[in-house]
Amino acid sequence: PGTEKPDAQVVDDEEGGVLFLPGSNSLSSSGYGYASIEKQRQRLPVYKYRTAILYLVETHATTIIVGETGSGKTTQIPQYLIEAGWAAGGRLIACTQPRRLAVQAVSSRVAQEMGVKLGDQVGYTIRFEDVTKQDETVLKFVTDGVLLREMMNDPLLTKYSVIMVDEAHERSISTDILLGLLKKIQRRRPELRLIIASATIEAKSMADFFRPRKKRREPETEENGLKVEPAILSVEGRGFNVQINFAEEPFHDYIQAAVSTVLSIHERESTGDVLVFLTGQDDIDAAAHLLNEDIQTNRKHSGLVVLPLYSGLPRADQELVFSPAPRGKRKVVISTNIAETSLTLEGIVYVVDSGFSKQRFYNPVSDIENLVVAPISRASARQRAGRAGRVRPGKCYRLYTEEYFLSHMSVEGIPEIQRSNLVSCVIQLKALGIDNILGFDWPASPSPEAMIRALEVLYSLAILDDDAKLTSPTGFQIAEIPLDPMISKMIIASSQLGCTEEILTIAAALSVQSIWISGRGIQKESDEAKLRFAAAEGDHVTFLNVYKGFHLSRKSSQWCHKHFVNYHAMKKVVEVREQLKKIAQRIGLVLKSCDSDMQVVKKAVTAGFFANACRLEPYSPDGMYKTLRGSEEVYIHPSSVLFRVNPKWVIFNSLVSTDRKYMRNVMTIDPSWLLEAAPHFYQLQKPNLLH
Ligand code: ADP
Ligand code: MG
Repeated sequence: PGTEKPDAQVVDDEEGGVLFLPGSNSLSSSGYGYASIEKQRQRLPVYKYRTAILYLVETHATTIIVGETGSGKTTQIPQYLIEAGWAAGGRLIACTQPRRLAVQAVSSRVAQEMGVKLGDQVGYTIRFEDVTKQDETVLKFVTDGVLLREMMNDPLLTKYSVIMVDEAHERSISTDILLGLLKKIQRRRPELRLIIASATIEAKSMADFFRPRKKRREPETEENGLKVEPAILSVEGRGFNVQINFAEEPFHDYIQAAVSTVLSIHERESTGDVLVFLTGQDDIDAAAHLLNEDIQTNRKHSGLVVLPLYSGLPRADQELVFSPAPRGKRKVVISTNIAETSLTLEGIVYVVDSGFSKQRFYNPVSDIENLVVAPISRASARQRAGRAGRVRPGKCYRLYTEEYFLSHMSVEGIPEIQRSNLVSCVIQLKALGIDNILGFDWPASPSPEAMIRALEVLYSLAILDDDAKLTSPTGFQIAEIPLDPMISKMIIASSQLGCTEEILTIAAALSVQSIWISGRGIQKESDEAKLRFAAAEGDHVTFLNVYKGFHLSRKSSQWCHKHFVNYHAMKKVVEVREQLKKIAQRIGLVLKSCDSDMQVVKKAVTAGFFANACRLEPYSPDGMYKTLRGSEEVYIHPSSVLFRVNPKWVIFNSLVSTDRKYMRNVMTIDPSWLLEAAPHFYQLQKPNLLH
């Protein structure tokens, strides 16, 4: 303290002040310098291409831009567009990102660079959070999902002059749907410009996708002089060499291996920050905990500053990740694959790559969608290694063997659309009037099995007519709510049953990962705490009890701590609930509370989740249930308040499969409600319901 050079200081000013960051070359040459924001912008690799980019966008309907992570695509190109007048005359520029955290981080950086307050000229919108001002915001950072939703009210996205689809190489499910729809929009709105930005070279297949099918005698140029053939521009980065080190033997525990690798880097290597890639909040917190324990006991390691990075991280912690390490300290950022290409961290010289990430996998046969820890692709591994070479030559430590890399890791990842549940995607396309879903122009076709499964779910919810069209008002209401259609159906039913206030709380609680604090070594205490709120009806009513307690405590963090309730999750629940309430009002639902009549609450839940009904197997010693729909064997998850209670009839919110299939968020029901809620679905199975 006191010895820090003033120029390394972060001037942090909430009101849109300027954030001084080290210049891009700072670590390699001059140390941290007072580079003006303008100078910093000019040093970025894309700056040299500014004129070329603007020319291509002017003259081409679609421009594909490939450039190394950190070259300035996301933060600079939208600013160039504003400077060139694309936001004049009430028009807007959109830049999409697959990840919410990236949307927030990048928009706040751009607002700082432009010297404006975030939310004024530059803003962002993610699900349940809108930081923009009508008539003032001209540049909007959004998740691809948000832009898809905007199309429901404005199918041609007429407000926008340019849409930049960023991180296209990620091939998130929403990105793929968006690309397909934008291609359609272009035919109706030739003046719309698209920029597809990506960190890796798969520009050619992207260009093929956007290239109009050649008809004979069709001119290459439209009347207004705009070229329909996509332009491709590749921004040359200036990454430094990265030395790759493979593990000699496979590791059994990659968290432990990551921790030891970080410590040995710290002991042996010269200055420079470390970036560790793990898979999710759980293992990141575990690794951070192990490192911090070591730092406290081992003086040799006191120079390490450990910073986790994952989505859902509080604002203040995000800012620490982007700020330079205090003088004389070495920063260790432990991240999910968000730091692979979405965010650039300055000062990283060492990368530790676990070789894993959390990926979505969907099995249309069992209808289970899980986030599982799975090996990354070789393309991802290369990207991760690249993060070490931004400021000077770096090193990458892979926690897997070269043999594993070559024989177990695929060359490219599989697009998310081919490994996801498609219910939300199908209902959205239907709401946009796209009925021939199999014939839709996808960048990568989803599997027919998953498609059929999605249609089945929508039929079961009785929101498609016999021609598979979305026609009923309820169907459109469901499509308007940005949640899983089963949850949306539950919300709509609550309006008829007079318990919207309660159901909105439940829907919000279901949207966070868990409202409980769990972790190694506190299982017993947290189970006991849970009992204080546990309702005989199950997890949904338990959520209501916790929510009530949280409110009575005036949203106190001490209260949460005392009861093993996750404070951040509860704050999120309150926020999401607020947003859902607005949406409910917009689509004309009646907001009402049923006070303590839990029967109607349970009926509303059943109206959405009737398809997930299960019956306890008679004489089953270990609490085995069978689903009514497919006679699948399932068990109540240990995190449920009904674990070991095993009521005869239950419905669940979702299944996770590990050694067995476990039901998460479980509620007791009266089987007669099933027939009431979904006669079309259960009529055939009536005999089964009678005993
Ligand atoms: P790309 O999109 O090509 O990967 P970006 O435009 O995200 O590149 O990043 C360009 C530069 O801006 C990088 O040098 C990065 O360090 C800096 N930068 C981006 N976001 C932030 C942020 N939130 N805080 C500080 N610096 C940032
Ligand atoms: Mg980017």
